[in-house]
Amino acid sequence: MEKNEIYRRLPRVDSLMKEKETEELVKEYGYDCVLDAVRRALDAAREELGYCAADAEEELAETLGRSLSGIRNKIREILCRENRMNLMPVVNGTGIILHTGLGRAPLGREVLLHAGQVAGGYSDLEFDLETGKRGERCLNFEETVCRVTGAEAAMAVNNNAAAMLLILSALASGGEVVVSRGELVEIGGGFRIPEIMELGGAALREVGTTNRTCPEDYRRAVCQETKAFLKVHTSNYRIIGYTRETTLEELAELKEETGLPVIQDLGSGVLVDLGKYGLAREPMVQESVRSGADVVSFSGDKLLGGPQAGIIVGKKKYIEKMKRHPLARALRIDKFTAAALEAVFRQYLDPEKAAEKIPVLRMLTRPAEEIRADAENLAERLRTSIRGDAPDGAEGARITVEECVSRAGGGSLPEQDIPSYAVAVDPADIPAGELAARLRRLELPVIGYLSGEKLFLDMRTIGEKDAGYIAEVFRAGEILRKEAR
Ligand SMILES: *Cc1c(COP(=O)(O)O)cnc(C)c1O
Repeated sequence: MEKNEIYRRLPRVDSLMKEKETEELVKEYGYDCVLDAVRRALDAAREELGYCAADAEEELAETLGRSLSGIRNKIREILCRENRMNLMPVVNGTGIILHTGLGRAPLGREVLLHAGQVAGGYSDLEFDLETGKRGERCLNFEETVCRVTGAEAAMAVNNNAAAMLLILSALASGGEVVVSRGELVEIGGGFRIPEIMELGGAALREVGTTNRTCPEDYRRAVCQETKAFLKVHTSNYRIIGYTRETTLEELAELKEETGLPVIQDLGSGVLVDLGKYGLAREPMVQESVRSGADVVSFSGDKLLGGPQAGIIVGKKKYIEKMKRHPLARALRIDKFTAAALEAVFRQYLDPEKAAEKIPVLRMLTRPAEEIRADAENLAERLRTSIRGDAPDGAEGARITVEECVSRAGGGSLPEQDIPSYAVAVDPADIPAGELAARLRRLELPVIGYLSGEKLFLDMRTIGEKDAGYIAEVFRAGEILRKEAR
């Protein structure tokens, strides 16, 4: 048979489109998407035929047969794959709680519910229910933030980087800002204090040294051009040894002398005393406000455990100035974020409850022993699951419970080793790296990490539902088989 003849035996696009089965697909996915999938399935079949030598009759016939019988499945498969969202949930087995690659802070149920209700309909986002007139955006949210932090006023923008940009643009543009050389921070993702300063139109006036900066250094730097003092929390590194840091209180004294505002970039917005849970103490927002900082900014989705946002709290006169700045409009948050922020801050009105309800805090403060019990439990479920219906079947993997170390992540608590437990999978027939890759390709991907020759799943970031799903994924040891799946 001629090769061209073979190609002609493949069904035509229009005849495939007319089939009843295809019509069903059109109802589900729309005509254009199905047409595209049909064309691509046929292209794939032609390509496969193209690989056969022109005189390899038997191979050609066999390939054609396979194409003909498989083409409808292929169309369905293409549509299924294409229809899946590219941004999708994953199971986090890394033990890194604020994993920036995995979306930082997961939101709690109540917060999501409220945000969904507000965003799914109309709301009083910028509407005054008393007067029936246009109101100010997010007033409700700001009131709650002030109650929790003790600040006079508050506002929120897209993220903390945006908050810094707005603060510097509104309060220091065209002048100088005094910063310690020990606090010229770079955060992952291209956020550097000197650069954000330049962008905000403020000149950086560095004082002190990397390890030591005293109040006198700040005082000497003050001149006609000075617009503010800036303190940056060294959230992702520590300077230890022979050090001297100028405290907020000391800067507040300078403020009395000079009338210049003290700005603080806190990084993570910690609102509860982490020391209570045996973690390193992080400076709390409330303390900054009390110590006399005029403007404090922090992230919504780091240790605060809320949606992505940059929250700015402080003296009313400065916040008002920022709200009127044109950048505020460009950087403003949407209603989904505003609703989620208010809901999270309300949970902080009762700090004990916050530690239970906010997923980031719950994961961060869970005792290792509790996690160990979860790990033992999942390990046992995995062993049973892998064995499947053949109790004497070959062991696909060795499952153990191992001590490990979780991290806060997101550039927070950089020094903190958080003791935890992982379920370790040591596959018998494939490398652990191959198992890791297979788990990443699942419809609901599972992200673990490799340690030695094993795949680790840290139970600190794995919830009850996730654990059930993982046990299901290992059913009958399919995923551990040598042959590619
Ligand atoms: C994380 C961080 C930022 C950036 O915050 P985003 O919300 O990620 O924009 C800025 N400053 C400090 C000190 C930080 O730790």
